[in-house]
Amino acid sequence: MDISTFCRELPKIELHAHLNGSLSMSTMMELQRYLADSGVRDETNVFTDEFVLSAGDTRTMEDCFQVFGIAHALTCTPGALEIATYLTLQEFEADGCCYIELRSTPRDTPHMTKQQYITAILQGIKKFSLQHTMESRLIISVNRNSNKEEAEEIADLTIEFYQKQPELVVGIELSGNPTIGEFQMFVPTLTKARQAGLKVTLHCGEICNPKEILEMINYKPDRIGHAICIHPKYGGTDELWAALCKSSIPKCVLLVMLTPKVFPAMILIILNYYMMLTYPSL
Ligand SMILES: [Zn+2]
Repeated sequence: MDISTFCRELPKIELHAHLNGSLSMSTMMELQRYLADSGVRDETNVFTDEFVLSAGDTRTMEDCFQVFGIAHALTCTPGALEIATYLTLQEFEADGCCYIELRSTPRDTPHMTKQQYITAILQGIKKFSLQHTMESRLIISVNRNSNKEEAEEIADLTIEFYQKQPELVVGIELSGNPTIGEFQMFVPTLTKARQAGLKVTLHCGEICNPKEILEMINYKPDRIGHAICIHPKYGGTDELWAALCKSSIPKCVLLVMLTPKVFPAMILIILNYYMMLTYPSL
């Protein structure tokens, strides 16, 4: 068996899949067709190529967040979002995934409310689950560019959906452009969700921000994502590294942000640090 077949067939779990960041080109084409058939004006035609990022791409992290706007335009109706969810799950399963946690930030669009946004994703998950074996769950995201009121609204919806469908809605997370917003502002909101029984995961250490990273580690989330700029060699500090190693955070998802400038070999070196210390990494 060649290595690519082996990797594909190896059973895998996926714990950090941003729905709008996981749309393949074929899914985007399908969504364009769906929106055209639904009479929704599509302004993304000429831009979908920009969604694909590859090694050597010179775009910055800021540019990458701009690109997500294309995906957002394609998932602006409940029907499109449900299709996007279904097709994305199908692709993960085809890649050998047996358990997945999708994550997404509910948005109000001209065609749906935040509540309808969550319902549409759950609908896609349920439809998929009727015909497939991969287990699928949802983590609801609060974007760092939200104001307090919007973050509260999302937390309340997350709690509401969790109480109705705890088998599908498993957590809340903080994500988005790490150069925007402050973690402390979201602490009361995240804590409210945590007290209702939801797990909390945080994007942490995507950029060098020792003060905030330490606040996040001390908050003891159930999981952190990315965790790049924590070791002193990679933009962190001794204090941060020691705090992380001492923390009781049971899992650390070490992932690469969609920044082509982050050289893959660098990620392997950082991962090696975690593995040498037998730090719990997924
Ligand atoms: Zn992420």
